[in-house]
Amino acid sequence: MASRYQSLKGFRDTLPEESLRWQWLEGIIRDQMRRYGYGELRLPLVESTELFSRGVGEGTDVVSKEMYSFLDKSDPPESLTLRPELTAGAVRAWIEHEIGKNQGLTKWYYVGPAFRYEQPQSGRYRQFTTFGIELIGSPLPEADAEVILAGVGLIESLGIRNYRLRLNSLGMPEERAAYRVALLEFLNARRSQLSQESIRRMESNPLRVLDSKKEEDVAATADAPKILDFLADESRAHFNRVRGLLDDAGVQYVVDHKLVRGLDYYTRTAFEFQGLDLGAQDALGGGGRYDGLIEQLGGPATPAIGFGFGIDRLLLAAEAAGAIPNQSAALDVFVVGLGDSARAWAVQTTRLIRQAGLAADCDLLGRSMKAQMREANRRNARHVVIAGDNELAAGKAQLKDMQGHAQQEVELGDLLNVIQSREEGG
Ligand code: AMP
Repeated sequence: MASRYQSLKGFRDTLPEESLRWQWLEGIIRDQMRRYGYGELRLPLVESTELFSRGVGEGTDVVSKEMYSFLDKSDPPESLTLRPELTAGAVRAWIEHEIGKNQGLTKWYYVGPAFRYEQPQSGRYRQFTTFGIELIGSPLPEADAEVILAGVGLIESLGIRNYRLRLNSLGMPEERAAYRVALLEFLNARRSQLSQESIRRMESNPLRVLDSKKEEDVAATADAPKILDFLADESRAHFNRVRGLLDDAGVQYVVDHKLVRGLDYYTRTAFEFQGLDLGAQDALGGGGRYDGLIEQLGGPATPAIGFGFGIDRLLLAAEAAGAIPNQSAALDVFVVGLGDSARAWAVQTTRLIRQAGLAADCDLLGRSMKAQMREANRRNARHVVIAGDNELAAGKAQLKDMQGHAQQEVELGDLLNVIQSREEGG
């Protein structure tokens, strides 16, 4: 029977078996963040719309087309938005809690959902999960390297080998402004060769034209001026230093002058990890430096750099690499009670085993012996404890090892000890 209600387009359920894969990935993220010294930030899902229009930029697709915004019930109503990304909220929190007063450098990470009204396809959803880090307070290229290396470390810990790191510098605002003029001039001369979308973008965000994957745009922009040629000495030296640090770490990357990123707040270093086993939606994650954002949002002028990864896509890439371990929620013990008092005994025994730290379950459907054994098998139970009313009266139960198939009679009082010593013995 078709269900009457379905999850919304672009929104998905994660059922328990699939959740095990998410837990695997989140476990790797959390372990890595512990090793790298980042603290976890948990942010609200909703922020004021203005935070994103100011922070991410009015001219970006994210703000102009993709936000879930709504008016709340206050008087006058306030415009709120389901966060389309987490950097703006992280910066808001950093300013609000005056974190910069007490520490020179802030290292934060977060894992959580973001929302964008996009056309759903493989690897692209309206609710997706991001993992990101923000390193706030350092202008040095060493900070850029630390963040990029954390991204490389994550991808490699997940067993993803088939990926490409693309690197560019978007310069400081003055450098980008000069580049924008030159790029616009170049694009205007080739207007007739560009797609409609790119012509529209020329007005709002001409750098994004370089990002287009449409054949006509790629061809028309092949000889476009390169932003790297517009960098002044300081930005150029910064970029070269970042490259040198990555070279020293043995990290492979390509300098790609067409990498512009979709959000407005980046300055200097920008990077993206491209998953080569993914389809059209191949950006595993990306980020960059955003030295102007904190001031723009009303905080003290503070340099910062960060990245965001899409966990949904990391899982697709890890899957394609065959790197996700087979997991099942294996049970240590299944307790089979046959008969009225044995069923009550099974409930108490299961509780004792659970209290001892093992995963245990018993039948709650009043099933036959055969059906209960089938259930124990289905659940991959290592041990099965079996007792009927008569055995209980004699103070005994059967303990069956489901791998070795050996079965032994055990005194009820010894049951837990015997199970535990078997577990410890492997
Ligand atoms: P962005 O802030 O656009 O750079 O996004 C950061 C990362 O989030 C991207 O590299 C993707 O991996 C992921 N991402 C962005 N949008 C979506 C989406 N609609 N569905 C799934 N993942 C997404």
